[in-house]
Amino acid sequence: MKIRWLLSAVAFFSLLSYLGVWGYFMLTRGAEPGELPVPDPPFVSSAPIEPASEAAGGEQAEVSGVVPESSVSTAADLVEKQGIELSASEVDPGGFLVLTVYDEQDPQAVTVDHPFGVTVRFYPVRDHLAALLPVKYTYEPGQYLITASGENFLESFTVTVKDRDFPTQELVVEQSTVDSTINSSSANEEYYARVQPTKFQSGDQALWEGAFLLPVEGRVTTEFGMQRITNGVPGERHGGIDLAAPLGTPVLAANTGRVVFADLIALTGNTVCIDHGLGLKSWYYHMDTLSVEEGQMVQRGEPIGTVGSTGFSTGPHLHFAVSVWNIYVDPQLVFDEAPAI
Ligand SMILES: [Zn+2]
Repeated sequence: MKIRWLLSAVAFFSLLSYLGVWGYFMLTRGAEPGELPVPDPPFVSSAPIEPASEAAGGEQAEVSGVVPESSVSTAADLVEKQGIELSASEVDPGGFLVLTVYDEQDPQAVTVDHPFGVTVRFYPVRDHLAALLPVKYTYEPGQYLITASGENFLESFTVTVKDRDFPTQELVVEQSTVDSTINSSSANEEYYARVQPTKFQSGDQALWEGAFLLPVEGRVTTEFGMQRITNGVPGERHGGIDLAAPLGTPVLAANTGRVVFADLIALTGNTVCIDHGLGLKSWYYHMDTLSVEEGQMVQRGEPIGTVGSTGFSTGPHLHFAVSVWNIYVDPQLVFDEAPAI
C-alpha cells in the first residue's frame, strides 16, 4: 500500500516537473511550427515526500522499468502474512500437521474446529503462533474439514487423510507376563493415574534441536501402528517402534527436552518421558536402568538409561514412541526431519 502511494506520488511530481520545464521552454524559446519542443530531463523535485531510503527505492523502480532486487525485498517485507496456514493438505493416519497463524497476538483468540479429537493449542513462536495437530492412526482415509478463526480471519480447509496399511503381528507371550501387565487392572490404573496426565501438559517453548535421533542402534522388531494379537487375543495397536538391542545398551534422549516422567511402573517397566514442548514428547519403555530424574533437562543424544525387559516385554528391547498430546504419531516422521514451526 505504501509503495503504491509512493509510486503515485513520484509519478505525479515527475509529471509536474515535466510540465513545468516544458512550459518554461515554450515561453522562453517559442515553438517553431511543426517542431516539438525537446525538454530537458525533468529535474527531481526538492520537496521532501518520503524518507530518503524509501524514496530512492521507488524512484529506481519507476525510472528503469526493471524492479531492482533491493526493492523486491523491501516490497516483500511489507507484505504481511495473514490468517492460518497448514503444513500439508494430506496426512497419513499416525501423522501430524503444523498449524501456523500470522498476524494474531493472542493464542487464546484462535479456535480450530476439527474432527481429530484433541485440543489444538497455539504457542507464540518468533513472529507467529504455532500448533501441532496429530491425526491418530485409527482415522479412516477420506476428507476432513478444519475450520479456524481468530480476531482477523476465518478460514476452512479440507485435509485428506491418506490410506495406510498397518500390518498385523501375532505375539506369544508368557501368560504370567500378560496377566501382570496388560491384563492387570491395577497395572492399567497405575499407568492412567501416573502417566496419562503428563500427556496433557507441555512446555511453551520448542526445545527440540533438529531431527530426532534413533535412541538405540537396534533392529526394529515391531513397527508403528501394527495391530497386535497377543496369545490369540487382538489387543491395542502399537503406539511406537520396538528396537531390539542387548541388555544394558545405552538409551539416548532422541532430542533435547525436559524429563517429565522417570519411574518404574508395572505396565511399561522403567519408563521415561521427555517433553520437547508444544505438546511433543518422546517415550522410552522397558528399560533396565534409569539415569535421569523428573524435572531434569536432557540434551539430544544424552544417555537416559539402558535397554532392559521390564514391564510388558518378552526380551531386551526399547519401546520408543512419540506423542503429540495424547496421540501417538509415527516416530519416523521426526527421524526424517524436525517438526518445522
Ligand atoms: Zn513396543
